[in-house]
Amino acid sequence: MKKEAKKAVKKVAARAVTKGRKKKATNRRGFIKIVAVLVILVVVAFGVNFALGNPLGGHVQTFLENFQIQEPARVAAEGEIRVHFIDVGQGDAILLQSDDNAVLIDGGINRRAITDSLVAYLRDVGVTRLCYVVSTHPHADHVGGLPTILREFEVDHVLMPDLMHTTNIFAEFLEVIDEKNIPVSMPNRYDENFFSAGIIHMYVVNPGHGPYRASRDLNDVSIIIRMVHGETAFIFTGDAEIPAERRMLESGVNISADVMLAGHHGSRTSSHPEFVAAINPSIAVISVGEGNTYGHPNDEVLETFAQRNMRVYRTDQLGSIVLVTDGTTITGPR
Ligand SMILES: [Zn+2]
Repeated sequence: MKKEAKKAVKKVAARAVTKGRKKKATNRRGFIKIVAVLVILVVVAFGVNFALGNPLGGHVQTFLENFQIQEPARVAAEGEIRVHFIDVGQGDAILLQSDDNAVLIDGGINRRAITDSLVAYLRDVGVTRLCYVVSTHPHADHVGGLPTILREFEVDHVLMPDLMHTTNIFAEFLEVIDEKNIPVSMPNRYDENFFSAGIIHMYVVNPGHGPYRASRDLNDVSIIIRMVHGETAFIFTGDAEIPAERRMLESGVNISADVMLAGHHGSRTSSHPEFVAAINPSIAVISVGEGNTYGHPNDEVLETFAQRNMRVYRTDQLGSIVLVTDGTTITGPR
C-alpha cells in the first residue's frame, strides 16, 4: 500500500474515534441552543403581551400550544421509504430514500461502466445528497464504487466497521473521506448503534465489539443494518457469514424483518436456516451478477427460502428492484 494511503488509514481511524466523542458534545450543545432559543422566544412573547397590557394573554398561550403541536417528531410510520436494490452485477448497492433523505449501503464493484451506471441511477431518482454512505466491509464488490460516490455527491456521514484493509480501492476510499473531511462512525451494537435520516431509522446489529482479526473475518465484520419503518423492517446483511449469524442469534439482538437481503449474494456460507427463521422474513432479495463464477445464489439457500414460502427477488433476473414501505405494507414488483 502507498505511503499516503497508510497515512489516510491512520488519520481516518483516529478521526472516527474523536468524532464519536465530539458528536455527543455537539448534540448536547445543540440541545442547549434549542432550549436557549425557546426561552428567549417565550420571554419575548411574554414581553410583547405585557407591553400590550395583556400579561400571560392569548399570544403566549397560542405560541406554547403551537409549539406543542409541532413538537412530536415521533410519527415514525408516516411517509414512504423506497428501498432500491440497484443492479451492479456481482456486488451490492442499496439505496434507502425518503423525501430528500437518502442513504447508500455499498457501491458495487470498481468497474467504470458499473460505477457510472450507479451514479446515473442515483441522479435519475433525484439523489443529490447522501445523509449516510455505509461501507459494510472493505471488499471490492462493496466498496468499489464508493470513492466515486463520495466525489460525485454531497455526503454527510460515512459508516464503516472498525477494520482497516490494505487494498488500493479501500485506501482510495479512505483518501477521499480524508480529502473531503467527511465525518466517520465505526458503530457496533454495544454503543453507537442507532442512526437516522429523516424517517429512515437504522439499527446496526452487527458487528459486536472488536478487535477483529484481519482479513479472515472481513465478511463477518460486515455492518448489518436493520431498518425499521412503522410495523415493517428490512435487514441488510452485507457479506456476513454463518459465524456472524450465530453470534447475532446468541446475542439476542433484534433481527426480525419482513425483507432480508440474502447474505453474501446468496452464498451457502450465509443464510443458515436458523438465522432465516429468527428473521422470519416473507421476502428475500439476492443481489447477484448474472452467470457469476461463484455459483451464487446457492441451491441450498434457495431451498431454505422456498421451504418458508418466501418471495425471492434477484437482481440477475430483474435488474434493479424497488420495494416501497409505507410503514404497514411493503410493495414490490409483481
Ligand atoms: Zn460481496
